[in-house]
Amino acid sequence: MTYSSDKRPPEIVIDGQVFYRVEGDLLLDSDELDVYLETQQALRAQREAARRLRERGVAGVDGDTGPLGRLTSGLLGILQDGKIVRWEPGTVLKYCVLRKTFPKREWYTAVVENMQRATDDWSATCGVRFEHVTAADESDALRPPEVVFPVRHLDSGGQFIASAFFPNDPEGRRRVFIDPSYHTTSFDHVGVLRHELGHAIGFRHEHIRSGAPALCPDESTVGTVDLTQYDPRSVMHYFCGGVGSRELAITELDRVGAQYVYGPPLSSFLLLAA
Ligand SMILES: [Zn+2]
Repeated sequence: MTYSSDKRPPEIVIDGQVFYRVEGDLLLDSDELDVYLETQQALRAQREAARRLRERGVAGVDGDTGPLGRLTSGLLGILQDGKIVRWEPGTVLKYCVLRKTFPKREWYTAVVENMQRATDDWSATCGVRFEHVTAADESDALRPPEVVFPVRHLDSGGQFIASAFFPNDPEGRRRVFIDPSYHTTSFDHVGVLRHELGHAIGFRHEHIRSGAPALCPDESTVGTVDLTQYDPRSVMHYFCGGVGSRELAITELDRVGAQYVYGPPLSSFLLLAA
């Protein structure tokens, strides 16, 4: 779904702060939304201009090969200051699952188990480390200081199944939200968390690429970097346009892209201390 500047996405109020949902599961504050919408408008204008030039037979102009919309395009990384965004080597991504935010004990238990499997899958894919700090699960604080990010229940009214953050988001935004719809979605429940954790380690949506089918959300790829070829089965591709996967499994191309950023799994090395 795309939004024009006169049509802002609906507001979601979280802990008293207003956010806007874009691309299905990304939350932006008001300033970020302004930038996002401007970028999209520029992208549309560029594509429209290129289309008109093609119609007039102007040679050498192809809107799909410009810097804002390339046809190549697996895994998308985030670019900031011309560099790929990733966690510092040695970072342990400590998390907790805030039990008291979940209205049902079995929802909490399911999220704990599925987070374990999803984090194990990423650690078996590339050089990232996660740790479940179980003692912090019982915290009354929404942001226990001993974790990098908490996972918590949040009723968004079904606006998203789950939502995460990027490594370069401010500290206060590092959290994973689980909507009640998560527990009934036909997407694989571990897969949804694999997808959200993909954001948390720095990957954008696969389906924002121009190579994706036209039915997929047409979002801006500004500030991203292609890590692999376009991959319709990517864990970062939502189910759209007849491609994508409800399993949200980590594909071979995802592995290649993730290892480009984080290297092979740490379990594949004999690590020696100096
Ligand atoms: Zn997503």
